[in-house]
Amino acid sequence: MTTRTEGSVESLPESRLPGPSSFAEPASAPAALLLLGRAQDLGSERGVECPGDLPAASDPDLVARAHAARQALGSNAFVLGHHYQRDEVIEFADVTGDSFKLARDAANRPDAEFIVFCGVHFMAESADILTAAHQQVVLPDLAAGCSMADMAAIGQVEEAWDTLVEAGVAEDVVPITYMNSSAAIKAFTGRHGGTVCTSSNAEVALNWAFAQRPQAKVFFLPDQHLGRNTAVRDLGFSPDDCVVYNPHKPMGGLTVEQLKNARMILWRGHCSVHGRFTAENVATVRRRVPDVNVLVHPECTHEVVSQADQVGSTEYIIRTIQAAPAGSAWAIGTELNLVRRLAKAHPDLKISYLDRTVCYCSTMNRIDLPHLVWTLESLAAGRPVNRIVVDPDVAHWARVALDQMLALPGL
Ligand code: SF4
Repeated sequence: MTTRTEGSVESLPESRLPGPSSFAEPASAPAALLLLGRAQDLGSERGVECPGDLPAASDPDLVARAHAARQALGSNAFVLGHHYQRDEVIEFADVTGDSFKLARDAANRPDAEFIVFCGVHFMAESADILTAAHQQVVLPDLAAGCSMADMAAIGQVEEAWDTLVEAGVAEDVVPITYMNSSAAIKAFTGRHGGTVCTSSNAEVALNWAFAQRPQAKVFFLPDQHLGRNTAVRDLGFSPDDCVVYNPHKPMGGLTVEQLKNARMILWRGHCSVHGRFTAENVATVRRRVPDVNVLVHPECTHEVVSQADQVGSTEYIIRTIQAAPAGSAWAIGTELNLVRRLAKAHPDLKISYLDRTVCYCSTMNRIDLPHLVWTLESLAAGRPVNRIVVDPDVAHWARVALDQMLALPGL
């Protein structure tokens, strides 16, 4: 029988697993991260003060209170749970999914006045754009943002576009933004004839963009890894066809010649969870677990993706595990809450977490039971809280980009 890796999801005793209620930020976390949700940070999509009095996390009645409020709201509320949410939150979700599936699920429930989005800020924005005007999208903790989305601020992206214009390449550039971006960035791509993509359809979106004009280049936002992995792995480009635009350097740190020669101009952004996995993690798990299948998300670095056996979106990872033969061994490189749930749901498989140092998405984990109870009780009492409303002009152009994505084959 295969030896399970030390530090794997299954090999840790339950008491040592970093369970939902025991999550604590490391002492070394930057101060700005520790203060999220307690002060204003208008420079990011997150960090806005939480206006309510949250129930204590130690309240033994939290689960009963959540059930009571959920029952009181009935079909008037629709609770969405992203796959990376804590178990204690997923328990109350009417549906689970990735960001795009959840936005579509919300749009298919026009009878629900309140869409309670247990995910992060950019997802709630997309739900607000795709749902009807009479529906209110609510994010239980306004501090639940996405570090990747924050790596592309609209002012920086507009400056970058000016650079592309000055370099004489903008007319060949088709912008594509990953779903994991702010509504303002989606609107930018809509205004400039581009589209949105998910990790499931990035290849289709790139093929569409390159078919727009003979010398087309793609300006890919904000995840450099998804852009590079798709271009090199799926479309057969060379890594040298890709350049990285660093918004903190003049001209993105690139020359006019580099911009002219590039086929993919990648924004310098990444996911703080998937960016942690390394090729050494892959090598280590292969040494420890013979016949292990390494399954990773395309937000991982190109080095990791190149070493993996299978690469795919969150939904792809779930489907792959559901179809895996009994007894097979898997090392999964994605967010830990999901990997833990997969391990629990499939005791016949040997499932390990790819990185021996466990890692949750810290902003996603800000939505916990106290925030959910506070939100549901406030809605049930007729006091909607934490509503996410996208500016109408931004929503219009973001919708143009989202509709372009919906028109791509395969969605
Ligand atoms: S897992 Fe990564 S991309 Fe997803 S919300 Fe967290 S930081 Fe953002």
